[in-house]
Amino acid sequence: MVLDSAQVVSRRRRGLLVALVSEALVGLVSLTSAEQCCALCLRRLPLQPCAGCACFGYCSDACRQADAPDHSRECAAIPLLVKKLSACGSHVWHRGDALLDALLSARLLRAGHPAESLAASLASPLLGRPKALEAMLQAPALAIPVAIARSLLEVAAEVPQLLPERFRHARLHQASLELVIGVLMQMQCNMTGVVEHSCFESVGSALFAEGSLANHDCAPTCQFLFRFREGARPSLELQCVRDVEAGESLCISYGDLARPVWERRRNLQASHWFSCKCAKCMKDLTPSGLLKQLESVSDPKGQLLRSLFERSLPEEAEAAKMLQVFKALKVPFASTSADAAVSLALKGLAKLEPLEKRSARSNLRIIQGSLAKLLPAVHREAVILQELQSLALSTAELAEDFSTVLEMAKELQARCLERYGPFHLKRCYLLRKELAAHEALGSPATEAAEAAEAFEKLLIRLGLKDEHDTDSQDTGLAHSEPGIDPLDTMD
Ligand SMILES: [Zn+2]
Ligand SMILES: [Zn+2]
Ligand SMILES: [Zn+2]
Repeated sequence: MVLDSAQVVSRRRRGLLVALVSEALVGLVSLTSAEQCCALCLRRLPLQPCAGCACFGYCSDACRQADAPDHSRECAAIPLLVKKLSACGSHVWHRGDALLDALLSARLLRAGHPAESLAASLASPLLGRPKALEAMLQAPALAIPVAIARSLLEVAAEVPQLLPERFRHARLHQASLELVIGVLMQMQCNMTGVVEHSCFESVGSALFAEGSLANHDCAPTCQFLFRFREGARPSLELQCVRDVEAGESLCISYGDLARPVWERRRNLQASHWFSCKCAKCMKDLTPSGLLKQLESVSDPKGQLLRSLFERSLPEEAEAAKMLQVFKALKVPFASTSADAAVSLALKGLAKLEPLEKRSARSNLRIIQGSLAKLLPAVHREAVILQELQSLALSTAELAEDFSTVLEMAKELQARCLERYGPFHLKRCYLLRKELAAHEALGSPATEAAEAAEAFEKLLIRLGLKDEHDTDSQDTGLAHSEPGIDPLDTMD
């Protein structure tokens, strides 16, 4: 979606109209504005409502006549569409946007714009973007175009003039359904909200083939201006919002620029299926940029930011980058990738069976899976990580899986060293000792003795204890590092 043809070839001043971009291919007033604004020209004027559907009105005979070729085909279908779409639930109906989408996609299909020819002039949001396609197929948002397409085809079976001949089947055909969904998806990424400049309010939607070529930027060079006139749909003009150098792209904003960076990007991801990587976003996503934004939205603890990220996890590579930024920020919230990893890991752990020899092996697999999820998310979850690893250790011991015992022990040791320095080895030792003591309470003495013996062996394997050093059982590691009181390292 690059506005190549209109790229600036010489310096343009702010406020200058760059080009009359286009006339609307299709357009319609939004249902929330339909009582005040003309269905065709979208001007706010006294209206004569349509006697047939009572849904839309016109400001003049000129507008009524200009819209007649389309509206005469859809008037009888509107009450049926309203009934079907509103029955799909408010998430589909969305204050009447679903009706608008259904009618506009029918208009496009009737105007001879099947998905294939639309693709030539409009950007297909998912073309060559397998990741976006994958995300879309998993997103609940796909349920909405599916519901709209299904309703449209069902109504077209009763009101045949609504769609071209090839769609008029009583039975739904998968190919038709996919085609309509394709058109709806293209509309979602290419439709423009037509804004009344006097009150900054979107009163309808229209599709401008050339206008949809303008790329998004959170610091755009241009904005759309809409021209309204009797007997015609609005037309679109492009105006520079700042001085533009030769060679600079003409771009607009697809979203609300007043929003903080994380909200802007979440909204763009939801509406246009891309994560914005514009220069402004990249700058806003640095620690100092984020701090500034947190201040400006009075969210010093970042709760809002965190909850927003929880609802829309960025891509994996991006999550890793965000993690770095969050660490640098040193604010009291952690990265969502870590939170997600923790919740996944905990979900896995909920499957653990009561620990007995028989289930130890399958439990060990669950624990290792959980660990794999948690390992990339060290920081404040280090405590959970460490507890999981000691759990894995004892489970592996129980399963008599000695190679895993050794592997886990090494991993634990390495991580403790990395995070807390050598002092932490003592902490692990004391935790283990405490555990053994708890196990000894209320258990037969033989078991406590066995546990102590197994623990001694483990210490030797870990290299924390010399094989011949049998007299240091009670002092353990403190004995080998006499300068440090082990109790100092307990917190
Ligand atoms: Zn009008
Ligand atoms: Zn009507
Ligand atoms: Zn951006």
